[in-house]
Amino acid sequence: MFHFASKHLPGRVLQGLSAVYFKGLSLYNNGFRNSHSCSTEYKFKGMGVTILPALSDNYMYLIIDENTRQAAVVDPVEPDKVLEVVQREQVNLTKVLTTHHHWDHAGGNEDLVKKSKNTLQVFGGDERIGAITNKVQDGDCFNIGDTKVECIFTPCHTSGHICYLINSPCDDPAVFTGDTLFVAGCGRFFEGTAEQMCVCLLEKLGNLPGNTKVFCGHEYTLQNLKFANHVEPNNTEIQKKIEWAAEKRKLGEPTVPSTISEEKLTNPFMRVTERTVQYHASCYDAIETMRLIRKEKDNFK
Ligand SMILES: [Zn+2]
Repeated sequence: MFHFASKHLPGRVLQGLSAVYFKGLSLYNNGFRNSHSCSTEYKFKGMGVTILPALSDNYMYLIIDENTRQAAVVDPVEPDKVLEVVQREQVNLTKVLTTHHHWDHAGGNEDLVKKSKNTLQVFGGDERIGAITNKVQDGDCFNIGDTKVECIFTPCHTSGHICYLINSPCDDPAVFTGDTLFVAGCGRFFEGTAEQMCVCLLEKLGNLPGNTKVFCGHEYTLQNLKFANHVEPNNTEIQKKIEWAAEKRKLGEPTVPSTISEEKLTNPFMRVTERTVQYHASCYDAIETMRLIRKEKDNFK
């Protein structure tokens, strides 16, 4: 529905429509009370990441710099949930990091800025992002207290998509990948090409250290692994991860973060140079394999 609407309707109508669509989906999946996962805290040396479930399967992330108690939030589509944690943790929220302009990621920006008395900087790579104050490009850096953030431009799902990388001097790096890289999957190519996704996944994100923790925009892991298993039925890493993820989901726990190393072993879209994945696509070219398996996944049930 989203794809059809984005082609045929004017922006304002589309925003209203997608708001209704996602809210409806969230209520349908979760009822009025429960969310799709429990909120979880992930500790790094000097930094904490609180994983906050939102809508039916989105994740928001509150990044806290421990020295200064300054905080930033990634894709705060449900501002009240974010502010509740900010209050509880007694941190100073100063920045919003937006991965892309889609409503289920950027749709809470304006409300959050208003509720924070206009003290927030809103980062992003696309003019269509609500309340944006700091438009960023590939390689731009800024700080959350003492924690340094680097912007990685990853166009394809949308033409202005940004991933945010945190390089901590004394712990694993962390990357917030929005709808570019999911656990065992990648975002649809709404505004880009297979060639661009190859640059994003094989070069920009693929060249990050293997121990980089991956925090993505949605809990799609089990569906993605089902497709990964279909592409590579003999990949035992995928089979092991399905068992692990099924257990996590049974407990209502998130399957993030993953790591770049794990993705290289299990994510078909990061494995388009592998013979097994190319064999499935009947093709010996990485870009063409990317295009073909994405097309197949678009219709995979
Ligand atoms: Zn999106």
